[in-house]
Amino acid sequence: MMLNDKHALVTGGGTGIGLAIARALAAEGAQVTITGRRLSVLEEVAENGMHPLAMDVADEAQVRDGIDAAVAARGPVQICVANAGIAEGRKLHKTDTELWRRIMSINLDGCFFTIRESLRSMTGTDWGRVIAVSSIAGLRGAPGAGAYAASKHGVVGMMRSFAEDFLGQPYTFNSICPGYVDTPIVTRNTDAIADRAGVSKDEARDMMVQMNRHQKLISPEEVAAAALWLCNPLSESTNGTEVRIAGGQV
Ligand code: NAP
Repeated sequence: MMLNDKHALVTGGGTGIGLAIARALAAEGAQVTITGRRLSVLEEVAENGMHPLAMDVADEAQVRDGIDAAVAARGPVQICVANAGIAEGRKLHKTDTELWRRIMSINLDGCFFTIRESLRSMTGTDWGRVIAVSSIAGLRGAPGAGAYAASKHGVVGMMRSFAEDFLGQPYTFNSICPGYVDTPIVTRNTDAIADRAGVSKDEARDMMVQMNRHQKLISPEEVAAAALWLCNPLSESTNGTEVRIAGGQV
């Protein structure tokens, strides 16, 4: 198996895209530390080769201590998937400082803490992959979701810069930028849009489907397949870039 006994860390690995990525890595033989704030959710989904760790990515000390414990148990992190994130859309005049800070602290600070702490062990090894789950909103404007788009643009800029910092070393840094993926985030947004716009949940879901250019929700497994490819030895020259999975959105 391609990733036999490699230690992978997947934040937000208990649900949605993170869970699909964790399963794909474990199926290739990796030992996968899956993290999230809710230990019960992680314990419920953990299968062979998946190891739950409760950790809030917005809390620097929890990330440092959590990753230290995972490294002590399973060795250096050689695959780091910074996936945990939240999505909440509000127009500018309704974006208060609390929402702005919450989105930045989870989506951007969380990604930074996760990668910095994982790199402490990865850089002692001869191979590593760092993958951040950004969004198509990290590459273009997202109407009504300025804070989210800013956080995801930040992730893309950070990954391009880290790729520059480590050029010539055996580690790659790439972002995956999905459109609307069929996960709990979309379910929660469906409820919020239905409430705000006074439409049914089916109509609200359809509004999101229409935003993907191919007019389908993307499956988490499609995103996981891209993450797995980035861990393939034949992707080693793919560095500092973005993989768009957005149904043709440009
Ligand atoms: P999801 O199922 O809600 O996944 C988010 C995960 O992040 C959850 O497992 C959650 O676990 C974890 N998380 C949230 N806040 C956290 C925190 N402070 N500390 C630690 N973990 C935290 O939705 P998803 O769609 O799979 O989202 C995964 C990533 O994909 C996100 O970064 C999202 O922005 C991105 N994305 C999603 C879509 C989409 O349409 N679904 C599109 C583009 C990008 P806990 O709640 O237990 O902490």
